[in-house]
Amino acid sequence: MSDQRINLAGLSRAEMAAEVAAMGEKPFRAKQLWHWIYFQGETDFSRMTTLSKAFRERVGDTHEVRRPDVSEVQTSEDRTRKWLVRFSDNQEAETVFIPEEDRGAVCISSQVGCTLTCTFCRTGTQKLVRNLSAAEIVGQFMLTRDSYNEWPTPQNGGRMISNIVMMGMGEPLLNYQNVATALKIIMDREGIALSKRRITLSTSGIVPAMQRCGEELGVNLAVSLHAVRDELRDVLVPINQKYPIKDLIEACRAYPGANNARRITFEYVMLKGINDSPADAHELIRLMEGISAKFNLIPFNAWPGALYECSSNTAMNRFAEILNDGGFSAPIRTPRGRDILAACGQLKSASMRAPRNAAAVEVPVQA
Ligand code: SAH
Ligand code: SF4
Repeated sequence: MSDQRINLAGLSRAEMAAEVAAMGEKPFRAKQLWHWIYFQGETDFSRMTTLSKAFRERVGDTHEVRRPDVSEVQTSEDRTRKWLVRFSDNQEAETVFIPEEDRGAVCISSQVGCTLTCTFCRTGTQKLVRNLSAAEIVGQFMLTRDSYNEWPTPQNGGRMISNIVMMGMGEPLLNYQNVATALKIIMDREGIALSKRRITLSTSGIVPAMQRCGEELGVNLAVSLHAVRDELRDVLVPINQKYPIKDLIEACRAYPGANNARRITFEYVMLKGINDSPADAHELIRLMEGISAKFNLIPFNAWPGALYECSSNTAMNRFAEILNDGGFSAPIRTPRGRDILAACGQLKSASMRAPRNAAAVEVPVQA
């Protein structure tokens, strides 16, 4: 039966090699499969023409190359596209593609829901949470490439899906191992070969994992700061109670590879009357001492039941101007895909039903 077969898409090099070895085949078969699966994007063994016919048939009996299922695809008025992706245990997460003029970023989820409970984020209200596997993370990227017909890699550039942001549902650094395996597959030069410079990982500030992320993956870092005082950040981003601002800033200062050419992005959601005063902006500049930093000011995106409002344009412009005067780039982000609830912080799947899988846990929702 097809669902008994082992899925090769999403396996690391070591895992692919182990599958091939278990079949009693020579290691070069793993290299060939890698090329077909991750460079060509091929899902049908019968079209993998460099493999012997006998091997194609044999591998097809026990293995398959499968994408996660898609429950729903929506395309926004601004062309932002959102996939509700369903995994084999029926749990769901969302993937979003944000097109620019001639390129774009795919926003990938790292967990079903999120164990953290940031009070302005819709994902944080979702009760059912589990980590996504490396295969489920890579699978999201692969299905967006299917959707835009972007296999194999064009030699002359010109692809729409040019960047990845790990900014979907979940906290990537609380699922570090699987995220790292997935990003290593995606960066592998004989496969998808996306450069680490085109990948940005966003964290709410899981301090102990940041150094490792920089050393092992070397991807761009974005930090969801959102507040300049612990009293407020404790409420907005409750993980701050464990890793306060001082420790977070220290970890940013020490982030490997951060320099003038590669700055850390600080995300700052603009909440009316909460964190948007000129004093906040000045304090933000003070905090950045010794860090190569830039800002992303994110207008708060509302969702059903949200407690906050977006800052006024005047407040956002004033805030940006202070940061600019302090020498920082601080664009106010244009929200994308709001009409299909695909914008930052609006993602939430309906994975609220009773878990079928032991790996799925109910986490307490903060009062
Ligand atoms: N968990 C990670 C990555 C996913 S969230 C993190 O928190 O960094 C991606 C970004 O969207 C984060 O900066 C997050 O704080 C922000 N965000 C969450 N809810 C939002 C909302 N309702 N409006 C605007 N931005 C929001
Ligand atoms: Fe989780 Fe990020 Fe949302 Fe916070 S903002 S609840 S860390 S997804």
